[in-house]
Amino acid sequence: MVDMICDYYSTVGQQRVKPGVEPGFLRGQLPASPPEQPEAFEDVLRDVQEKLMPGVVHWQSPSFFAYFPSNTSFPAALADMWAGALSMIGFSWAASPVSTELEMAMMDWLAELCGLPAAFRCNGGAGPGGGVIQGTTSEAVLVALLAARARALRGRVQADKLRLVAYSSDQAHSCFRKACMVAGVDHVRMLPTSAEHNWELQPEVLQAAIDADLAAGLLPCFVMATIGTTSSCAVDPVARLAPVAARRVSNGLGRAGGCGAWLHVDAAYAGAAALLPEQRSAHFGDLGAVDSYSFNPHKWLLVNFDCCALWVADAGPLKEALSLTPVFLQATGNALDYKDWQIPLGRRFRSLKLYFVLRMYGAEKLRAYLRHHIALAAAFAAALQADPRFELAAPQRFGLVCFRLRDVPRQVNAALLEAVNASGRLLIIHTELGGAYTLRLAVGSASTQLEHVEAAWEVIKGAADQVLRQHAERTAAEAPAAVPARA
Ligand SMILES: *Cc1c(COP(=O)(O)O)cnc(C)c1O
Repeated sequence: MVDMICDYYSTVGQQRVKPGVEPGFLRGQLPASPPEQPEAFEDVLRDVQEKLMPGVVHWQSPSFFAYFPSNTSFPAALADMWAGALSMIGFSWAASPVSTELEMAMMDWLAELCGLPAAFRCNGGAGPGGGVIQGTTSEAVLVALLAARARALRGRVQADKLRLVAYSSDQAHSCFRKACMVAGVDHVRMLPTSAEHNWELQPEVLQAAIDADLAAGLLPCFVMATIGTTSSCAVDPVARLAPVAARRVSNGLGRAGGCGAWLHVDAAYAGAAALLPEQRSAHFGDLGAVDSYSFNPHKWLLVNFDCCALWVADAGPLKEALSLTPVFLQATGNALDYKDWQIPLGRRFRSLKLYFVLRMYGAEKLRAYLRHHIALAAAFAAALQADPRFELAAPQRFGLVCFRLRDVPRQVNAALLEAVNASGRLLIIHTELGGAYTLRLAVGSASTQLEHVEAAWEVIKGAADQVLRQHAERTAAEAPAAVPARA
């Protein structure tokens, strides 16, 4: 199996990134029912190669530039093999002490590498804050929202649940809206952004929305800012949003207290860049007033899926929202039980892959790795800007470049995307920015080198020649026939 994986990595760069299969391709290739008797490992592996691999999109291809990267590495994969072998369910300290203790240590290591505020450290579970590994950002955002809701409802009546409001920009990931759906927060404000402000949420816009909701008798509860939006890697000005979010709302019951809205920062993809001091000072700013912060090492930090790092400055509200202790789980005087920091009870030993990756690469190599991708993205953006047919659709940030052919109808850019991906030589996706069709190229596959980015640019230029020629021919054909000259 390990040989097969090594062979795969050494040839994946030559394969079509996206397979040419149609929906239902696997039906008819598998027996309709599971086997009654055991089958040989060789037969299973052969079917993996022959039947399953043709349906794989090669996310590990050096020419995979779609979505955001989904990194993996040998240290991470090997750690996950060991975690799979142990398969212990470390929901509490007692259920497997090493699970909790390694996770606290790794979250503190990661917090230090990213320069996060001291309040986010686990300090061995002494509190009040700390970090926890969730499966995905979607779970982290939901957990943060549940904590926010618990805190906002302190000292309030049941009916107040219906008055809670959550805010983000209209560029926030759909997981924000989904978290509101799941948590039953019905008042959801996805506030407008504009090209003028590079698709960043402006504090005045948040302030106006909060004021309007307060005037209408609602309760601002949760603000989600994004560092590195999925569409364009826009960076919301967290330090300037924090005081707006924090304005205290009285709980109306005459008690001391009431609180401001909880501020969560979603840095799912871009959070890895916080390892770089220059990126940190340019894009992350002061996170000191943030209630919770999350990013996915499984995107751009060489840790295979799934691994989302979530930190909270105060775990109290999280535990109010999520802790329940049936008799069979009663603790034996321990530091911290991660079952109270997440939705499921069971949890994998995910900290092991962080431990392997952080030790076997070391911070210096990880920084070089991230800088390498950022430089490749900058090189692509520079090539693009030197070609007058193209324009950047947003400032180039981290490993992402958003671009389009300028001054053409949207279907020409759509045709460009289709032609590029049909080549099979790379894979990119598109987004909408201000209603404009926009292509996005995200550099970040573990094996991507300059040659792959240069080859991608050649394919894109060639496809642009083709779609612009077709567009010119179509325009000429549709133009009104010239008025015949009179004799
Ligand atoms: C990828 C991404 C998400 C979703 O991440 P999951 O871990 O798949 O839930 C959320 N927010 C941003 C900004 C992302 O880029």
